[in-house]
Amino acid sequence: MKNLLLVLLLTLFGEMLFAQTPNPPNVINVTKLKSNAWKSNNYTIVIHGGAGTINQSMSDSLKLAYNNSLAEALHIGEDILKNGGTSLDAIEKVLNYFENDPKFNAGIGSVYTSEGMHEMDASIMDGRDLSCGAVAGVKHVPHPISLARLVMEKTPHVLLSGEGAEKFAETIGIKLVPSNYFDTPERFKQWEEYKKKLQEKMHGTVGCTALDQYGNLAAGTSTGGMTNEMPGRIGDSPLIGDGTYANNRTCAVSCTGWGEKFIKNTVAFNVSALMDYKGMTLKEAVDEMIYKRLQPDDGGLIAVDHKGNYVMAFNTSGMFRGVATSSGIFEVLIWK
Ligand code: ASP
Repeated sequence: MKNLLLVLLLTLFGEMLFAQTPNPPNVINVTKLKSNAWKSNNYTIVIHGGAGTINQSMSDSLKLAYNNSLAEALHIGEDILKNGGTSLDAIEKVLNYFENDPKFNAGIGSVYTSEGMHEMDASIMDGRDLSCGAVAGVKHVPHPISLARLVMEKTPHVLLSGEGAEKFAETIGIKLVPSNYFDTPERFKQWEEYKKKLQEKMHGTVGCTALDQYGNLAAGTSTGGMTNEMPGRIGDSPLIGDGTYANNRTCAVSCTGWGEKFIKNTVAFNVSALMDYKGMTLKEAVDEMIYKRLQPDDGGLIAVDHKGNYVMAFNTSGMFRGVATSSGIFEVLIWK
């Protein structure tokens, strides 16, 4: 009888315990958002076009050209979000725009490796459920960010590299381009100067983070890597948690700078983790990583949190960047 009572009590407590164990917050978010189609009028989009030593004495016409490109990219993303589009769509389209602009080190404007080739990396992440996709070391793909999204949506994998990634691209109908598609006089000059040791630490990777009207965060990054890198070198940009991260619980992050430093410090994930585990605000978490963990001249990042707060921080002399929000903020900036 005593034993029976004990079993009964244990069963009852067990059930109460299970009833009170919450589901993982991400699962709750996804289900709720899907079934209720909840929508606010709030959105935020933040973009970057690379951090580094950006010469303040650049010509006015070049300055204007950069500012115009940043503004155009922001308009593309903002229009998508304003019209109820998703953060993922905004990110892909913004980064496609940059990948077509030779001023930025992604897609057509990708830098040269030490062997005079171009190797591109990209990644994208969906903060709803942590799904993500990335490509590394692709040489013939005009829009690596779109291929990264297809890896996320159409394969069971997270990261495809080199030939395998390009084979996958072909099987889903992406037209590959010859490697001279990525040859641009400006990058060639930069490579020549680099070899003569006149290099400026200017990177030019592109990134985008967004919060859409459904409360979903996403982040994406696309790059041609670093000038004169060894063939096969992979930086932080295609690595989830290093160069890109998004989680609806916390924030979305895209990094730019010296990739090896961002990998060693797991920068993008750590911004989210500091918010999640330590209760820091987005700004506190970003400040910790950019100004305390990294060193001067390592790079920068953009980030937006689940409430639409945003940060654009860098420890270099400049970072091409911009932000647009539903509250009417629209600005593009290069230096501090
Ligand atoms: N982080 C990129 C890489 O290391 C470069 C950059 O952001 O400029 O490949």
